[in-house]
Amino acid sequence: MEESSSSETRKRTRTESEAGPIGEAGTKRDEEFWFKDGNVVLQAGGVAFRVYQGSLSLNSEVFAGLFSVPQPTLTDTFDGCPVIELADHPDDLRHLLRAVFVDQTFYRHNAQLPFVVVASVVRLAHKYGMEHLRDDALERMKSCFSDDLHVWAKAEASEGSALMTYDYTDAIAAVNIARLTETQSMLPYALYTCCQLDTEVILNGVPQKNGTTERLTQEDILRCLNARSTLVHDNIIFAYLLFTPTLPLACADQVCHASLQCLAQANLTFEGELEDPTCLADWITWLAHNEQTRSYNNLCLNCQAYMQLKARELRSDIWLRLPHILNLDVRVRDPSAEDP
Ligand SMILES: [Zn+2]
Repeated sequence: MEESSSSETRKRTRTESEAGPIGEAGTKRDEEFWFKDGNVVLQAGGVAFRVYQGSLSLNSEVFAGLFSVPQPTLTDTFDGCPVIELADHPDDLRHLLRAVFVDQTFYRHNAQLPFVVVASVVRLAHKYGMEHLRDDALERMKSCFSDDLHVWAKAEASEGSALMTYDYTDAIAAVNIARLTETQSMLPYALYTCCQLDTEVILNGVPQKNGTTERLTQEDILRCLNARSTLVHDNIIFAYLLFTPTLPLACADQVCHASLQCLAQANLTFEGELEDPTCLADWITWLAHNEQTRSYNNLCLNCQAYMQLKARELRSDIWLRLPHILNLDVRVRDPSAEDP
Protein backbone atom coordinates (compact mmCIF):
# COMPACT_ATOMS: atom_id res chain seq x y z
CA MET A 1 0.00 0.00 0.00
CA GLU A 2 1.22 3.51 -0.80
CA GLU A 3 2.53 5.56 2.10
CA SER A 4 0.64 8.71 3.03
CA SER A 5 1.11 11.65 5.34
CA SER A 6 -0.50 11.27 8.74
CA SER A 7 -3.34 13.68 7.95
CA GLU A 8 -4.14 11.87 4.68
CA THR A 9 -4.01 8.53 6.48
CA ARG A 10 -6.38 9.80 9.10
CA LYS A 11 -8.68 11.11 6.41
CA ARG A 12 -8.60 7.87 4.39
CA THR A 13 -9.13 5.77 7.48
CA ARG A 14 -12.24 7.74 8.31
CA THR A 15 -13.56 7.35 4.72
CA GLU A 16 -12.94 3.61 4.75
CA SER A 17 -14.66 3.37 8.06
CA GLU A 18 -17.66 5.21 6.66
CA ALA A 19 -17.87 2.89 3.68
CA GLY A 20 -17.59 -0.18 5.83
CA PRO A 21 -19.82 -1.99 8.29
CA ILE A 22 -21.68 0.16 10.74
CA GLY A 23 -22.82 -2.54 13.10
CA GLU A 24 -21.85 -5.90 14.45
CA ALA A 25 -23.93 -7.66 11.79
CA GLY A 26 -21.76 -6.15 9.03
CA THR A 27 -24.36 -3.70 7.82
CA LYS A 28 -23.21 -1.52 4.89
CA ARG A 29 -23.92 2.15 4.42
CA ASP A 30 -26.01 2.83 1.37
CA GLU A 31 -24.00 4.63 -1.31
CA GLU A 32 -26.93 6.81 -2.38
CA PHE A 33 -28.67 7.60 0.90
CA TRP A 34 -26.11 8.50 3.54
CA PHE A 35 -26.66 12.17 4.29
CA LYS A 36 -23.92 13.36 6.66
CA ASP A 37 -26.39 15.64 8.43
CA GLY A 38 -29.11 13.00 8.47
CA ASN A 39 -30.64 12.38 11.89
CA VAL A 40 -31.99 8.85 11.65
CA VAL A 41 -30.59 5.58 10.32
CA LEU A 42 -32.98 3.14 8.63
CA GLN A 43 -31.56 -0.35 8.51
CA ALA A 44 -32.99 -2.87 6.01
CA GLY A 45 -31.54 -6.17 4.84
CA GLY A 46 -27.97 -5.36 5.83
CA VAL A 47 -27.99 -1.85 4.35
CA ALA A 48 -28.16 1.38 6.38
CA PHE A 49 -29.70 4.59 5.07
CA ARG A 50 -28.99 7.86 6.94
CA VAL A 51 -31.83 10.24 6.20
CA TYR A 52 -33.99 12.93 7.80
CA GLN A 53 -36.71 12.30 10.36
CA GLY A 54 -38.55 15.53 9.52
CA SER A 55 -39.02 14.72 5.83
CA LEU A 56 -40.08 11.17 6.61
CA SER A 57 -42.57 12.40 9.22
CA LEU A 58 -43.96 14.97 6.81
CA ASN A 59 -44.60 12.25 4.21
CA SER A 60 -45.55 9.34 6.42
CA GLU A 61 -47.90 9.09 9.35
CA VAL A 62 -46.31 5.75 10.23
CA PHE A 63 -42.80 7.21 10.51
CA ALA A 64 -44.20 10.26 12.30
CA GLY A 65 -45.73 7.93 14.88
CA LEU A 66 -42.51 5.98 15.17
CA PHE A 67 -40.45 9.10 15.86
CA SER A 68 -42.88 10.72 18.26
CA VAL A 69 -43.09 7.84 20.71
CA PRO A 70 -40.03 6.31 22.39
CA GLN A 71 -39.61 2.90 20.79
CA PRO A 72 -37.66 -0.04 22.15
CA THR A 73 -36.18 -0.40 18.64
CA LEU A 74 -34.66 3.08 18.87
CA THR A 75 -32.25 2.23 21.69
CA ASP A 76 -29.58 1.44 19.09
CA THR A 77 -27.74 4.53 17.87
CA PHE A 78 -25.09 5.24 15.27
CA ASP A 79 -23.17 8.54 15.13
CA GLY A 80 -25.78 9.84 17.52
CA CYS A 81 -28.64 8.85 15.19
CA PRO A 82 -31.31 6.43 16.31
CA VAL A 83 -31.29 3.22 14.26
CA ILE A 84 -34.59 1.80 13.08
CA GLU A 85 -34.70 -1.77 11.83
CA LEU A 86 -37.09 -2.30 8.92
CA ALA A 87 -38.15 -5.64 7.45
CA ASP A 88 -38.06 -4.31 3.87
CA HIS A 89 -35.70 -5.23 1.07
CA PRO A 90 -33.04 -2.49 0.65
CA ASP A 91 -33.78 -2.11 -3.09
CA ASP A 92 -37.46 -1.46 -2.36
CA LEU A 93 -36.58 1.03 0.37
CA ARG A 94 -34.14 2.84 -1.93
CA HIS A 95 -36.89 3.31 -4.56
CA LEU A 96 -39.14 4.80 -1.89
CA LEU A 97 -36.42 7.09 -0.52
CA ARG A 98 -35.74 8.39 -4.03
CA ALA A 99 -39.38 9.36 -4.26
CA VAL A 100 -39.23 11.14 -0.90
CA PHE A 101 -35.78 12.75 -0.89
CA VAL A 102 -34.62 13.09 -4.47
CA ASP A 103 -37.54 14.26 -6.56
CA GLN A 104 -41.14 13.38 -5.97
CA THR A 105 -42.16 14.78 -9.33
CA PHE A 106 -39.80 12.31 -11.00
CA TYR A 107 -42.29 9.65 -10.03
CA ARG A 108 -45.28 11.60 -11.25
CA HIS A 109 -44.24 12.81 -14.68
CA ASN A 110 -41.82 12.49 -17.55
CA ALA A 111 -40.05 9.21 -16.90
CA GLN A 112 -41.15 5.75 -17.99
CA LEU A 113 -40.34 3.50 -15.03
CA PRO A 114 -39.97 -0.28 -14.96
CA PHE A 115 -42.76 -2.19 -13.22
CA VAL A 116 -40.45 -3.33 -10.41
CA VAL A 117 -39.74 0.28 -9.31
CA VAL A 118 -43.40 1.27 -9.43
CA ALA A 119 -44.34 -1.87 -7.49
CA SER A 120 -41.77 -1.11 -4.75
CA VAL A 121 -43.08 2.42 -4.31
CA VAL A 122 -46.72 1.29 -4.18
CA ARG A 123 -46.01 -1.39 -1.60
CA LEU A 124 -43.82 0.62 0.76
CA ALA A 125 -45.81 3.85 0.39
CA HIS A 126 -48.90 1.82 1.29
CA LYS A 127 -47.13 0.24 4.25
CA TYR A 128 -45.85 3.56 5.63
CA GLY A 129 -49.02 5.54 5.02
CA MET A 130 -47.60 7.76 2.26
CA GLU A 131 -50.88 8.05 0.44
CA HIS A 132 -49.96 10.61 -2.21
CA LEU A 133 -46.94 8.58 -3.29
CA ARG A 134 -48.91 5.36 -3.29
CA ASP A 135 -51.69 6.88 -5.38
CA ASP A 136 -49.26 8.40 -7.88
CA ALA A 137 -47.56 5.04 -8.34
CA LEU A 138 -50.94 3.29 -8.63
CA GLU A 139 -51.99 5.71 -11.38
CA ARG A 140 -48.82 4.77 -13.22
CA MET A 141 -49.64 1.09 -12.81
CA LYS A 142 -53.21 1.66 -14.02
CA SER A 143 -51.83 3.14 -17.24
CA CYS A 144 -51.07 -0.49 -18.18
CA PHE A 145 -53.42 -2.59 -16.02
CA SER A 146 -56.45 -0.52 -16.97
CA ASP A 147 -60.19 -1.16 -16.87
CA ASP A 148 -60.44 0.79 -20.12
CA LEU A 149 -60.06 -1.47 -23.16
CA HIS A 150 -58.57 1.30 -25.31
CA VAL A 151 -55.94 2.22 -22.70
CA TRP A 152 -55.14 -1.43 -22.05
CA ALA A 153 -54.90 -2.33 -25.74
CA LYS A 154 -52.51 0.53 -26.44
CA ALA A 155 -50.25 -0.43 -23.53
CA GLU A 156 -50.38 -4.11 -24.47
CA ALA A 157 -49.38 -3.44 -28.06
CA SER A 158 -46.38 -1.36 -26.93
CA GLU A 159 -45.37 -3.56 -23.95
CA GLY A 160 -46.01 -0.64 -21.65
CA SER A 161 -47.41 2.87 -21.47
CA ALA A 162 -45.62 6.22 -21.51
CA LEU A 163 -45.37 5.87 -17.73
CA MET A 164 -44.42 2.24 -17.13
CA THR A 165 -42.94 -0.82 -18.84
CA TYR A 166 -43.90 -4.34 -17.78
CA ASP A 167 -43.56 -8.03 -18.60
CA TYR A 168 -46.46 -10.44 -18.69
CA THR A 169 -45.11 -12.17 -15.58
CA ASP A 170 -45.43 -8.87 -13.67
CA ALA A 171 -49.19 -9.45 -13.78
CA ILE A 172 -48.88 -11.70 -10.71
CA ALA A 173 -47.44 -8.81 -8.66
CA ALA A 174 -50.05 -6.48 -10.18
CA VAL A 175 -52.83 -8.77 -8.89
CA ASN A 176 -51.26 -8.89 -5.42
CA ILE A 177 -50.85 -5.09 -5.37
CA ALA A 178 -54.47 -4.62 -6.48
CA ARG A 179 -55.51 -6.87 -3.56
CA LEU A 180 -53.21 -5.08 -1.09
CA THR A 181 -54.41 -1.59 -2.01
CA GLU A 182 -58.00 -2.58 -2.80
CA THR A 183 -57.64 -1.26 -6.33
CA GLN A 184 -60.39 -3.41 -7.84
CA SER A 185 -60.24 -1.83 -11.29
CA MET A 186 -56.80 -3.38 -11.93
CA LEU A 187 -57.93 -6.93 -11.23
CA PRO A 188 -59.72 -8.02 -14.45
CA TYR A 189 -56.91 -7.32 -16.87
CA ALA A 190 -54.12 -8.29 -14.43
CA LEU A 191 -55.82 -11.65 -13.84
CA TYR A 192 -56.54 -12.05 -17.57
CA THR A 193 -52.78 -11.61 -18.16
CA CYS A 194 -52.04 -14.21 -15.48
CA CYS A 195 -54.32 -16.60 -17.39
CA GLN A 196 -51.96 -16.26 -20.38
CA LEU A 197 -48.96 -17.50 -18.35
CA ASP A 198 -47.76 -21.11 -18.29
CA THR A 199 -49.58 -23.25 -15.75
CA GLU A 200 -46.30 -23.82 -13.92
CA VAL A 201 -45.82 -20.06 -13.50
CA ILE A 202 -49.41 -19.60 -12.31
CA LEU A 203 -48.88 -22.35 -9.72
CA ASN A 204 -45.32 -21.63 -8.57
CA GLY A 205 -45.01 -17.87 -9.06
CA VAL A 206 -42.16 -15.80 -10.44
CA PRO A 207 -38.73 -15.52 -8.75
CA GLN A 208 -37.77 -11.88 -8.15
CA LYS A 209 -34.32 -10.26 -8.30
CA ASN A 210 -34.43 -9.65 -4.54
CA GLY A 211 -34.57 -13.40 -3.89
CA THR A 212 -38.28 -13.64 -3.07
CA THR A 213 -40.96 -15.32 -5.22
CA GLU A 214 -44.07 -13.44 -6.27
CA ARG A 215 -47.05 -15.81 -5.98
CA LEU A 216 -50.78 -15.58 -6.42
CA THR A 217 -52.96 -16.63 -3.50
CA GLN A 218 -54.52 -20.10 -3.71
CA GLU A 219 -57.84 -18.41 -4.40
CA ASP A 220 -56.49 -16.43 -7.35
CA ILE A 221 -54.61 -19.45 -8.74
CA LEU A 222 -57.90 -21.36 -8.82
CA ARG A 223 -59.65 -18.33 -10.32
CA CYS A 224 -57.12 -18.21 -13.19
CA LEU A 225 -57.22 -21.93 -13.91
CA ASN A 226 -61.02 -21.95 -13.99
CA ALA A 227 -61.23 -18.83 -16.13
CA ARG A 228 -58.70 -20.11 -18.62
CA SER A 229 -60.97 -22.86 -19.92
CA THR A 230 -63.68 -20.25 -20.53
CA LEU A 231 -61.20 -17.97 -22.29
CA VAL A 232 -60.07 -20.82 -24.55
CA HIS A 233 -63.70 -21.59 -25.36
CA ASP A 234 -64.53 -17.93 -26.02
CA ASN A 235 -61.50 -17.57 -28.26
CA ILE A 236 -62.81 -20.35 -30.51
CA ILE A 237 -66.29 -18.82 -30.59
CA PHE A 238 -64.76 -15.42 -31.35
CA ALA A 239 -62.92 -16.81 -34.39
CA TYR A 240 -66.01 -18.67 -35.57
CA LEU A 241 -68.21 -15.57 -35.39
CA LEU A 242 -65.59 -13.38 -37.04
CA PHE A 243 -64.82 -15.63 -40.00
CA THR A 244 -68.28 -16.97 -40.74
CA PRO A 245 -70.22 -13.72 -41.08
CA THR A 246 -73.83 -14.20 -41.95
CA LEU A 247 -76.22 -12.07 -43.98
CA PRO A 248 -74.94 -8.56 -43.18
CA LEU A 249 -72.02 -9.33 -45.48
CA ALA A 250 -74.12 -8.67 -48.57
CA CYS A 251 -71.20 -8.22 -50.89
CA ALA A 252 -71.59 -9.42 -54.50
CA ASP A 253 -67.86 -9.51 -55.10
CA GLN A 254 -66.75 -13.11 -55.67
CA VAL A 255 -63.21 -12.20 -54.62
CA CYS A 256 -64.56 -11.24 -51.19
CA HIS A 257 -66.38 -14.55 -50.79
CA ALA A 258 -63.31 -16.51 -51.84
CA SER A 259 -61.04 -14.47 -49.55
CA LEU A 260 -63.37 -14.89 -46.61
CA GLN A 261 -63.43 -18.63 -47.21
CA CYS A 262 -59.62 -18.67 -47.20
CA LEU A 263 -59.60 -16.78 -43.89
CA ALA A 264 -62.17 -19.13 -42.37
CA GLN A 265 -60.23 -22.20 -43.46
CA ALA A 266 -56.98 -20.81 -42.09
CA ASN A 267 -58.46 -19.70 -38.76
CA LEU A 268 -61.10 -22.25 -37.90
CA THR A 269 -59.00 -25.41 -38.02
CA PHE A 270 -57.30 -24.49 -34.67
CA GLU A 271 -54.50 -26.92 -35.42
CA GLY A 272 -52.41 -27.08 -32.28
CA GLU A 273 -54.02 -23.90 -30.95
CA LEU A 274 -56.93 -25.28 -29.02
CA GLU A 275 -55.38 -24.16 -25.73
CA ASP A 276 -55.11 -20.50 -26.70
CA PRO A 277 -56.83 -18.20 -24.14
CA THR A 278 -55.89 -14.91 -25.86
CA CYS A 279 -59.45 -14.00 -26.70
CA LEU A 280 -58.80 -10.27 -26.25
CA ALA A 281 -56.19 -10.30 -29.04
CA ASP A 282 -56.49 -7.67 -31.74
CA TRP A 283 -57.52 -9.84 -34.69
CA ILE A 284 -57.60 -7.09 -37.28
CA THR A 285 -54.04 -5.91 -36.60
CA TRP A 286 -52.98 -9.54 -36.63
CA LEU A 287 -54.72 -10.24 -39.95
CA ALA A 288 -53.12 -7.20 -41.49
CA HIS A 289 -49.62 -8.28 -40.47
CA ASN A 290 -49.22 -12.00 -41.04
CA GLU A 291 -49.32 -14.65 -43.73
CA GLN A 292 -53.07 -14.13 -44.15
CA THR A 293 -52.59 -10.47 -45.02
CA ARG A 294 -53.28 -11.12 -48.71
CA SER A 295 -56.67 -12.74 -48.10
CA TYR A 296 -57.64 -9.91 -45.77
CA ASN A 297 -56.40 -7.19 -48.13
CA ASN A 298 -58.29 -8.82 -51.03
CA LEU A 299 -61.58 -8.06 -49.28
CA CYS A 300 -63.27 -4.93 -50.59
CA LEU A 301 -63.22 -1.90 -48.26
CA ASN A 302 -66.83 -2.51 -47.22
CA CYS A 303 -66.09 -6.09 -46.22
CA GLN A 304 -62.93 -5.03 -44.36
CA ALA A 305 -64.93 -2.39 -42.49
CA TYR A 306 -67.55 -5.00 -41.62
CA MET A 307 -64.91 -7.37 -40.24
CA GLN A 308 -63.34 -4.56 -38.24
CA LEU A 309 -66.69 -3.66 -36.74
CA LYS A 310 -67.45 -7.31 -35.95
CA ALA A 311 -64.04 -7.83 -34.34
CA ARG A 312 -64.48 -4.68 -32.26
CA GLU A 313 -67.93 -5.80 -31.08
CA LEU A 314 -66.73 -9.29 -30.18
CA ARG A 315 -63.73 -7.91 -28.33
CA SER A 316 -65.85 -5.41 -26.40
CA ASP A 317 -68.24 -8.19 -25.50
CA ILE A 318 -65.47 -10.31 -24.00
CA TRP A 319 -64.01 -7.28 -22.21
CA LEU A 320 -67.36 -6.61 -20.55
CA ARG A 321 -67.75 -10.26 -19.58
CA LEU A 322 -64.21 -10.52 -18.19
CA PRO A 323 -65.18 -9.87 -14.53
CA HIS A 324 -67.86 -12.56 -14.80
CA ILE A 325 -65.43 -15.01 -16.46
CA LEU A 326 -62.96 -14.35 -13.63
CA ASN A 327 -65.67 -14.56 -10.97
CA LEU A 328 -64.98 -10.98 -9.84
CA ASP A 329 -67.44 -8.47 -8.46
CA VAL A 330 -65.91 -5.61 -10.44
CA ARG A 331 -67.24 -3.36 -13.19
CA VAL A 332 -65.13 -2.46 -16.20
CA ARG A 333 -65.71 0.49 -18.51
CA ASP A 334 -67.88 -0.14 -21.55
CA PRO A 335 -65.57 0.15 -24.58
CA SER A 336 -68.39 0.76 -27.05
CA ALA A 337 -69.48 3.87 -25.14
CA GLU A 338 -66.06 5.39 -25.77
CA ASP A 339 -65.56 4.29 -29.37
CA PRO A 340 -64.47 7.16 -31.59
ZN1 LIG B 1 -66.69 -7.23 -50.30
